[in-house]
Amino acid sequence: MLYLSTRGHPDRKRFCEILLEGLAPDGGLYLPESYPQVDGAALARWRSVLNEQGYAALAFEVLSLYIDDIPADDLRRLCEKTYTAEVFGTAEIVPLKALEEGLYLEALSNGPTLAFKDMAMQLLGNLFEYELARRGEQLNILGATSGDTGSAAEYAMRGKQGVRVFMLSPHGRMSPFQQAQMFSLMDENIHNIAVEGVFDDCQDIVKSVSNDLDFKRRYRIGTVNSINWARLLAQVVYYFAGYFYATKSNDDKVSFCVPSGNFGNVCAGHVARQMGLPIGRLMVATNENDVLDEFFRTGTYRVRGSADTFETSSPSMDISKASNFERFVFDLLGRDAARTRHLFDESLRLHGRFELGEDPLFGQAASRFGFASGRSTHADRLATIRSTFECQGVVIDTHTADGVKVAREQRQTGEVVVVLETALPIKFAETIREAIGREPQRPARFEGIEQLPKRMRVMAADTVAVKRYIAEHCPLA
Ligand SMILES: *Cc1c(COP(=O)(O)O)cnc(C)c1O
Repeated sequence: MLYLSTRGHPDRKRFCEILLEGLAPDGGLYLPESYPQVDGAALARWRSVLNEQGYAALAFEVLSLYIDDIPADDLRRLCEKTYTAEVFGTAEIVPLKALEEGLYLEALSNGPTLAFKDMAMQLLGNLFEYELARRGEQLNILGATSGDTGSAAEYAMRGKQGVRVFMLSPHGRMSPFQQAQMFSLMDENIHNIAVEGVFDDCQDIVKSVSNDLDFKRRYRIGTVNSINWARLLAQVVYYFAGYFYATKSNDDKVSFCVPSGNFGNVCAGHVARQMGLPIGRLMVATNENDVLDEFFRTGTYRVRGSADTFETSSPSMDISKASNFERFVFDLLGRDAARTRHLFDESLRLHGRFELGEDPLFGQAASRFGFASGRSTHADRLATIRSTFECQGVVIDTHTADGVKVAREQRQTGEVVVVLETALPIKFAETIREAIGREPQRPARFEGIEQLPKRMRVMAADTVAVKRYIAEHCPLA
């Protein structure tokens, strides 16, 4: 299996080469040269693999179609080490909950940080440790977070050999629960830097450190952001699992509704569908930051400035541009790399938008690729959390509520829709209280977490100071 860049770079790479890389050298995103096809016989076999051997065994089946530069026994061991009931709370790993007629929730947020990002990040941590050991290399992950991504990365990398994490977050701006999750980690390889500023200041520092190529090389700086192909690949697995849990036969179809921000999660659904999983529709649910809903309704993709990016009560979907979207557009355009490059490099850079509404290919987003979309607001979120609690007795988080809202609105008679549950309500307690006037349940292991000692360094929003801190804490190899 070889990987190409969506912008047409002539090089082809193997999985472990792109594992530790971010963007392709031409600024594109990596995709497999073609999607491996899963026929009826393979689907039948995978259904029994899941039922008889469990999620980790299914993960191995899916991953091994895309990874041919890790020996099969090692890859199987990495999957078994990652997807355990101990880490993800249940033997099913991603159990389904029936909501109402034709509607299910797929629980993806019972991992260490209570958000679906654990599903991919936990595997990434094990893959990184494995590959770095094999190469005898070290990696220093530098990132900026306003909540979910940073904690998922830290819980995945804690205690791993060869990896250090330097995570910048805006001082005093994360919820007390999120701060406690991150800052209570005492592992030596985890460094929390609380920057006196906002999230954008943190991100600017990461960018300017990464732009210093000499520093980046010298200190082996890397990232774990959502464009990483390995993260996306790990997410493909739970579409297969969700499908098998929701159906009795492989003749059935299932649609998925996915709370979306950077288009990483739903892009994994697109990959599963391209492989031949019988997915009916892929519904993209956004909040007030509706870049993606606008595209699927009109064919216009218009990135937003920071003044037009709203702070909402589903904050992990507050994005101004969807960093994984280029992968889907590349497929929509019949894998025309020159055209993809033109849209994402020139049109977006010069005009902040591109328009495909007039192009006959745009119609295929729905007809051939199965996409639909919808948006949700704070008021919708409250109403959805309330009605789901009152009618089904289930408390859902704000992001999942955006998904349930859109699924209820879009679902056609007879259609089975699985909504991906992307976080647990305890992470967004304030809005839950506003919706139903009660405190969301807290898993026992998070009891009293706010009272634990905290370990972090407060620092001015100053690139030089951050570089100095990294240099002091990275013995050069
Ligand atoms: C990251 C995140 C999302 C958005 O996922 P994308 O892959 O960026 O589309 C949705 N909900 C929660 C809780 C998240 O943490």
